[in-house]
Amino acid sequence: MAEYPVHEYDVLVVGAGGAGLRAAIEASAAGCKTAVITKSLLGKAHTVMAEGGMAAAMGNVDDRDSWRVHFADTMRGGQYLNNCRMAELHAKEAPARVYELEAWGAIFDRTQDGRILQRNFGGHRYPRLAHVGDRTGLEMIRTLQDHGIHQGMDVYAEHTVLTLLMDGNRCAGAFAYDRERGRFKVFPAKAVVLATGGVGRAFKVTSNSWEYTADGQALAYNAGASLLDMEFVQFHPTGMVWPPSVKGILVTEGVRGEGGVLRNKDGKRFMFDDIPENYRSSTADNEEEGWRYTQGDKSARRPPELLTRDHVARCINREVKAGRGSPHGGVFLDIAWIKEKLPNSIEHIKKKLPSMYHQFKQLADLDITKEPMEVGPTTHYIMGGIQVDGDTQMSSVAGLFAAGECAAGLHGANRLGGNSLSDLLVFGQRAGEYAAKFAKESGAGKLDHSQVDAAAQAALAPFERGAAGENPFAVQSELQDFMQELVGIVRIESEMQQAIEKIHALRARAAKAGITGNIEYNTGWHTALDLDNMLIISEMIAMAAIERKESRGGHFRDDYPDKSAEWAKYNLRISKGADGRPQLERVPVVPLTDEMKQVIEENK
Ligand SMILES: Cc1cc2nc3c(=O)[nH]c(=O)nc-3n(C[C@H](O)[C@H](O)[C@H](O)COP(=O)(O)OP(=O)(O)OC[C@H]3O[C@@H](n4cnc5c(N)ncnc54)[C@H](O)[C@@H]3O)c2cc1C
Repeated sequence: MAEYPVHEYDVLVVGAGGAGLRAAIEASAAGCKTAVITKSLLGKAHTVMAEGGMAAAMGNVDDRDSWRVHFADTMRGGQYLNNCRMAELHAKEAPARVYELEAWGAIFDRTQDGRILQRNFGGHRYPRLAHVGDRTGLEMIRTLQDHGIHQGMDVYAEHTVLTLLMDGNRCAGAFAYDRERGRFKVFPAKAVVLATGGVGRAFKVTSNSWEYTADGQALAYNAGASLLDMEFVQFHPTGMVWPPSVKGILVTEGVRGEGGVLRNKDGKRFMFDDIPENYRSSTADNEEEGWRYTQGDKSARRPPELLTRDHVARCINREVKAGRGSPHGGVFLDIAWIKEKLPNSIEHIKKKLPSMYHQFKQLADLDITKEPMEVGPTTHYIMGGIQVDGDTQMSSVAGLFAAGECAAGLHGANRLGGNSLSDLLVFGQRAGEYAAKFAKESGAGKLDHSQVDAAAQAALAPFERGAAGENPFAVQSELQDFMQELVGIVRIESEMQQAIEKIHALRARAAKAGITGNIEYNTGWHTALDLDNMLIISEMIAMAAIERKESRGGHFRDDYPDKSAEWAKYNLRISKGADGRPQLERVPVVPLTDEMKQVIEENK
């Protein structure tokens, strides 16, 4: 093996978002020598962008809330394809994880009597999202980062993991490079936790940060782990649509939680026209009731703007397609209207939604306290990801764990807003705990130097091809264009088949990617190295979306617009076949226990 620096750990965590930091805190607390590797600077992971809050049934604002209602809401939101064990653990453990964050110094907005304030969000029956204005992710990251550093973990900022190192079927560490200097490093580890987030950068219009290039999902797949539910990508209903340079940037659901309403170009609140049967009894049937709900009236039902994201996104899409959209191809989201109800509406909006106020003022020169915003769907989240054991978060590869957005199971076909931040805490903690246990019980794996040499050689190949090679930015941009167009919010078999053919053609071009310049902070090189991950995962999304011949949650098929009772029985799993190609299979959904069935029934 060439002489690369070697940094050895008990537990290596890849990713410094909420899930990675929470896992690292747990592993360090268990006495393991722990490191976190992150592509960005510490404190800059994508979690920092989270706005609305974290869902936990603490019942501070409405004491009818409990883990049972949260569990039932999560299962209904996920259209019953969720791993029910994960949904149960999540609902039961989220409150403790939030209080723990508070004990570590997180500041939350407060109720009149000083408890953590909770706000309404789509699909949650009661106000459930603990929050800090619309900057909850920032507070979460700041708290975890401070606590983690004091716990004694090492941090490798601006480092990218390129491959996992294997000892037979067991994960034995990772091989990474330092983005700033372009130097390789070897990280032998007894256990590895992947917490690398999502895949949004494979699409053109996205709320996701540059880090979301599907690395963790691809690293796990290449190491032999299985992926689940890859067809379920969430298109958030409200991203900015104007100006073009900021298209896709998120407009938090918190706007609707605070009373914001959706209107088409004729001023009509179109969401009242399409309320799904299974939400009819819990949804307001008039505007006045919807407003009272957002103001905490316990006898009122939620407005249809707070139906689940998949549904709201499709309704917006329909309005735009029918020619009833806003001038720039979205619809109107209006919070300014609350001046009819609240005399101090301007201060109220600025206090409750400070980031949204600044975002629109600075990026679109629009004052949301006075004018409606223009919004439309944006690629936001992937429910699918690395298949894990519900209790331990271990993947199908020994010693390889996954938590947060890169893992699958909790959210089924559709994630409820706010359930990600609590997912990061609950399953980050569990991944850290069980990775530490695995490290202590299993000892170190054997390092295979030839794997390191092969990975280094592959990583340097784009330099050898130089300017004669394919431009990695062009390949990435083409992928984003057609994934948005052909595997986006409304899907049809023939288009997705076209997407697969295009992915194959792009893979051949990506294999010839060439770059010029130095190895130090070379963004062309970074992009060339990301391409393979994005292409592998895009193919899986298209494959699974073709296979699932029904519409459910985030997956909408124009050629199969209804839900199918048969498909309700299965998740789709993808693993690497003997021929090196992705193999798809149906696996039965994790069965509900009798108690879970009863909880779902009593909360219908
Ligand atoms: C604008 C916005 C607002 C949101 N608001 C909310 C909200 O209010 N409530 C909610 O519940 N959810 C919200 N979400 C979703 C939520 O923020 C994310 O799902 C969540 O933060 C993901 O956290 P994570 O820990 O899994 O990953 P991340 O926070 O994305 O962290 C991933 C980490 O992995 C690192 N990484 C990736 N690849 C590699 C590699 N190859 N090598 C080394 N490091 C790597 C990255 O650098 C980063 O440190 C929001 C999302 C967006 C985009």
